[in-house]
Amino acid sequence: MRRVYLDNGATAFPKAPGVGEAMADYIGRIGCNVGRGSYPGACAAGRTVLSVRERLNALVGGPGARNVVFTGGATHGLNLLLKGLLRPGDRAVTSAMEHNAVLRPLNQLEAAGVRVDRLPCNGQGELLLEQAEEMLTQDTRCVILTHASNVSGTLFPIGEIGAMCRARGIFFLVDAAQTLGCVPVDMAAMGIDGLAFPGHKGLLGPQGIGGVVVTDALAAELEPLLSGGTGSRSESLDMPPFLPDRLEAGTLNLPGIYGLGAALDYLERMGAPLRDRVRKLGGHLWARLMELEEDGLRVLGTREVKRRTGVVSVDFLHADNGEMAFRLEQEYGIETRCGLHCAPMAHRTLGTFPQGAVRFSVGPFTRFEEIDYVHGAVYELLLETG
Ligand code: PLP
Repeated sequence: MRRVYLDNGATAFPKAPGVGEAMADYIGRIGCNVGRGSYPGACAAGRTVLSVRERLNALVGGPGARNVVFTGGATHGLNLLLKGLLRPGDRAVTSAMEHNAVLRPLNQLEAAGVRVDRLPCNGQGELLLEQAEEMLTQDTRCVILTHASNVSGTLFPIGEIGAMCRARGIFFLVDAAQTLGCVPVDMAAMGIDGLAFPGHKGLLGPQGIGGVVVTDALAAELEPLLSGGTGSRSESLDMPPFLPDRLEAGTLNLPGIYGLGAALDYLERMGAPLRDRVRKLGGHLWARLMELEEDGLRVLGTREVKRRTGVVSVDFLHADNGEMAFRLEQEYGIETRCGLHCAPMAHRTLGTFPQGAVRFSVGPFTRFEEIDYVHGAVYELLLETG
């Protein structure tokens, strides 16, 4: 049976060409640490790490290469931002569409005395901007929002919220897990102070590597999530005062950084047409599934195609979503993700809690013909289930 992988929202597959080779090359040929020794391998690895920081910074319109801090992924980065910034008595504002990578750290912080409020969204997961205008009062320490929902595939108006935060002196933190590599991000233009991203989704790199990019103003307020060795200022028991060392204790994931570097080579080589392809594939998937709404399918998220990503989730109105996902996989080889997608509140907002939904998510290597195959498979299941 053919295999149609449509779970790129969870992790990209395949990865960018050259990722595996770059990781194996590092392990087999270089293998040593950075920032600790001055032998040739250490210097070569140091240059690669710096180059990956520089290119990530350029990709996100960040303040500088030293403002790029490597983490294990978006979850680690979001914990670093939220737990580093928020103190008892502070107010944080988030949305009703966030992933547990935001909600769970906030829940822990709420138990420690942080006040958390949620910007409301409509039933299609769109942010209600007028209410945001009222809720973003100057006593707010930070706003933390996803750039796009991993359930509805809807982009949030990040630039507008960033402008509101900037006007009120509020730190603006963004979870770019579903967008970086697929949707342009410009921290300076969008008013973003802290951006968290994984390497393994839209950037097409390996798992276990990601990062945050922070402005100097935000970094100055962040208490390090981890403390430990940095290879710098070792005489002091305090973390070094400069970036990235202050926020980056311990040995870096060098195979991951080499793999991410190769993924960036590929993204830079392919340029904007690659992002356009993901957008067009997402639009095609959405349009084909929308054709089935009269046959017992509900397509979640905004109806404005230009505000959609490559994620499309559906609710089978007359059948069990878990069973439909299982049958798509067993009978058609279509690999999706079913359930609550680590975002229970998003499903409450969209009216699909607790049953969840079936999520299809494209990547740049998805083929248009595969989407037409999905349309046919879903149609056949709908015919059977009435
Ligand atoms: N935020 C969103 C919106 C996500 O979709 C995900 C992953 O699914 C994450 C955060 C967490 O990313 P990671 O698992 O790479 O830490």
